[in-house]
Order: sequence, then structure tokens, then C-alpha cells
Amino acid sequence: MAAIAIAAAAAALTTAAAGVQPAPHSLVLDHVRIIDGSGAPPIENGRIVIEGDRIARAGAAAATPAPAGAERIDLAGRTVIPGLIDLHFHIENDPKMALRQLSHGVTAFRDPGQWNEKFAELRRMVAADDLPGPRIFTTGPHIDGENPAYPADSVVARDAEEARRHAEINVAQGASALKIYFRLPMASAKAVIGVCDAHRIPCTAHLELLDAGALIAAGLHGVEHITSFGISLVPRVKGEAYRQAVLRNNDARRDGRYRLFADADLDGPEAAALYAIVRQRRPWIDATLAVFERRADKPFDGATKEIAALQAAGFAVMKQLARRLGREGARIVVGGHTEVPFAARGEAPWREMELLVESGFTPLETITAATSTAAGFLYHDRELGTLHAAFKADLVVLRRNPASDISAVREVERVMVAGRWVEIGKYGGY
Ligand SMILES: [Zn+2]
Repeated sequence: MAAIAIAAAAAALTTAAAGVQPAPHSLVLDHVRIIDGSGAPPIENGRIVIEGDRIARAGAAAATPAPAGAERIDLAGRTVIPGLIDLHFHIENDPKMALRQLSHGVTAFRDPGQWNEKFAELRRMVAADDLPGPRIFTTGPHIDGENPAYPADSVVARDAEEARRHAEINVAQGASALKIYFRLPMASAKAVIGVCDAHRIPCTAHLELLDAGALIAAGLHGVEHITSFGISLVPRVKGEAYRQAVLRNNDARRDGRYRLFADADLDGPEAAALYAIVRQRRPWIDATLAVFERRADKPFDGATKEIAALQAAGFAVMKQLARRLGREGARIVVGGHTEVPFAARGEAPWREMELLVESGFTPLETITAATSTAAGFLYHDRELGTLHAAFKADLVVLRRNPASDISAVREVERVMVAGRWVEIGKYGGY
């Protein structure tokens, strides 16, 4: 008896000394359709139990007990999806854009090429408002070659040693991925991939002048922009003419890439060689279709009627390629690219999701691309992107069911990050 009493007293002391926290605030989202982000079919009449900043459990209401005394919100008729992850967000000089996108359900983003200094104002705004998000992932400036495409957002590496050095500095300064840009020579690109492997972070790239198949085979983890595959789809003589035109003048890619795609054969021998590598390596691909969207009946940016028709034809092939790469095993993700021709302010990720569905992905596949697959490309798929127990409580409540119409992602009723609701009325005006 005495021994047990002593043991109990010791246990109580240990507990007190460890400073055990009071039970976290529990919240129950009830009677809601759950699309969990894993690709599983929607759960009708679901329940999500949130404790603190994480999901305690989620599933069919009948099989998901609600803790006594928890706060309950009845969400009958609504759908809950994981917070969207935008893997191609350019902050530029507009930190408010990140908060506007947050109000649209984008709870995490990665900027694929920017100096850390550009995020200071956003971080200050987030701290000042005590906001739980958005979750910010950065790469540091692009690592490009001489005559960089975007000088202000780049560091220039003239050889593999300089590339390795820039890569190491970006990582030391907080980059959770690195981005190769298209003027970087092949050996330098491989050096950057090597730094990523050493630090266990993903390497992504805007290729276009670099051979996608060769770099993916060399270990490149992901690719930004469907246009990165242009020269991989045409005979070498044609690809080389395009490369040399862009090497002379970065602007030659603007119409040149549409011409390349309009003529590409997605069942030709060059494409087949690319698919073989994609099947083997399963790279993440962030097509960023929305930034390339062109319509024959709405000439964009001063295009003549003739050029607008060429661009529309090229864009149609870009969409087909995105779908084909997905079928061949690429892990398709979502990147909005912030400013795009046919989306209003802060709506680029929604447009990208609609374009993936237009390309032939199902709405459910598209939601998976924007959530669990995107979390995989962040190397955070054990706590983000899926509405499963122990994952972070980042989610969006939609008025309509996006599994039957993807445009329902635009009808946001509530946004939560880390178990806390975001004041979407305020940030929706940013
Ligand atoms: Zn970009």
C-alpha cells in the first residue's frame, strides 16, 4: 500500500515538474463533407475534431467521437478541404497579396526565387496581426547563369563552384528548396542538385534551355513551368534553334515557346524518351498553366490576331502535356504564379486549379495536387496537406462541393491555419 502511495506521489510530482499544459481547446466541425486531400473519395456527414493546432481525428461522424464539452460548429451542406498550397507565388513588392491569397484558402506558399529581404514586411504584418499563417517557404534568389532572365531576383553563377557556393549560402539563410534558372550551365545545375541532396531539401528548376530529361535523370526533384519541357518535345535541330534564340535574347521565349508547343508531337520519339525518365523518377511538376493561358478570341498583351491564334494553339498542347505527364507518373502540384492573364487579384491558384481540370484531371485529383502532393514537394507531407489525425489544422470551408465543380474552391466561407480561424473579410480586401 505504502509503496503504491509513494509511487503515485512521485508521479504527481513529476507531472507538476514537467509543467503539463491544460487540455487544449477542442473544436468539432460537424455534419460536413470532408475531402481529406489524400485523393480518397469525399466523406459525407463527416466530423473533424481539432485540438490545439492539430487535427485530433477526422472521418464519418458515426465513427468519430466528439469530446465532451468541445465547441461545435454545424457545417451542414459545406465541404472542408485542406488549406491550399501555392508552390509558385511571387511576393515581389506586394506582401498584402499573400494575405489576400490566405483569405482565398491558400494557407501555405513557396516563392521560387526571391531575396529574403522581400519577406520582411509580410512577416512584420503577420506578427503585428498575430496571424497563424500563411506558412512561408522560400528558396532564396534563383541561381542563374550570365545575362540572367530576372537580374533583380537572381544570383549569377559562372561555373559549378560558384553555383555550389550560392546554393550553400541560400540554404544557410533559410531556403527550404533551391531553384535553378535556365541560363545555368548543366554542370552548375548538377552542383546545385548536389547541395540540395546534401541538405535533404528539394531542388526545382525553370529549365526551358536545359534538357529536362537529363536533369531529372541526374536527380532534379521538381520542375516549374510546363514550358520547361519545350525543347524535350521537338527534334534536336529545332530545339537548338530555340535555345540559341533565347540565349541571344531572353525575350525570344515569349512567342517562341508557343510556336515550339504548337508544333510539338506528344507521341513522338523525343516525348517518349522524356516519359520514360518521368515514369522512373516521378518528379514533381508545377505546370503553372495559368500564367501561360492564352485565348484566340482575347488577344493578350498586344498580340495580333495571328499571334493570338498561335498562342492559343500552343497553350492547348501545354495543357495536354500536363495531363500526359501526370499519367506517366509525374507528381502534379499547383502553382498560381500570382499575376496571370485571366484571373483577378489573388485568384491565380484558383485559375490554375480550373485549368488542371480543363486539362483532364478530375476535380479530386486537382485538390490532391494542391494539398497532399504539394506538401510532398515541400517535404512536409507528414503534417501538412491532408486532413488526417496529427496533421496541422489548416483547412478551408467551402459553400459548395468542389468534387463536382472545381470552381467551388472560389466560394470560401472560412479559413483556418493551425487551429485558428483567419479573419477573411479583412484580408479579402487586401
Ligand atoms: Zn515564376
